[in-house]
Amino acid sequence: MGRLDGKVFVLSAAAQGIGRASALAAAKEGARVIATDVNAEKLKELEGIPGIEIRVLDVLDTEAVNQFAASIDKVDVLFNCAGFVANGTILDTDEKTWDFSFDLNVKSMYRMCRAFIPKMIAQGTGGSIINMSSVASSIKGAPNRSVYGATKAAVIGLTKSMAADFVQHKLRFNCVCPGTVDTPSLRGRINALPDPEQSMKDFVARQKLGRFASAEEIGHLVVYLASDESSFVTGQEFVIDGGWSL
Ligand code: NAD
Repeated sequence: MGRLDGKVFVLSAAAQGIGRASALAAAKEGARVIATDVNAEKLKELEGIPGIEIRVLDVLDTEAVNQFAASIDKVDVLFNCAGFVANGTILDTDEKTWDFSFDLNVKSMYRMCRAFIPKMIAQGTGGSIINMSSVASSIKGAPNRSVYGATKAAVIGLTKSMAADFVQHKLRFNCVCPGTVDTPSLRGRINALPDPEQSMKDFVARQKLGRFASAEEIGHLVVYLASDESSFVTGQEFVIDGGWSL
């Protein structure tokens, strides 16, 4: 028996990294996974995997999000995973970068939650909403993560307020706050820095366990929060950071 048998698990940013690992983990635990991403090509790599259906979705597009939600009959778990890391202090962050970061990292959750919460309430069977934050948020000040940290702190605030607003409908809202996770975008960010080898060492050193997390390790936490094993858990931020915040 799978831990997510009978559940419909919808997520964004499923084409790579933590989203992809979570989609695979949820399907392995018996969920019907509706895996979405803006990158149609990459998303296709999930095609044909038992339990996974793919749908192209840009979470910046309110109309597309609403149409997508209207096309889904039942949803038990919503994992809002999409996000983007802007590098730099506030002095390096122009308004375009600030606005884009909030649009993708926070407003996308506003769009998805507004589209899916009424459906979940109407179902009357409760549900789990998981939002992707980061330890670089209100939990820890990370250098050169000015707008990123602000968006991920906003995710924690939004998650807690939604948890308070919809608890009577048995909707649970939690967020995941990873440290550094070995994903394609992390590798890309490190390779774009002036001294990638040293930067790699510095990034690794932040985690006191002395390594990056794998995307699969974050997927295990997502499965727990999606499952009924976490049925008494709501409004929390789950730090999974290899000791970075110690
Ligand atoms: P990633 O950055 O490697 O991939 C992100 C995915 O999001 C891609 O498949 C991309 O196509 C998709 N995407 C981008 N814009 C989109 C849009 N408008 N609509 C739909 N999909 C879109 O993945 P990752 O590193 O696993 O990061 C996933 C999430 O985890 C992000 O929110 C990130 O901030 C967060 N996070 C990552 C780390 C890390 O170290 N990798 C740490 C903490 C938090």
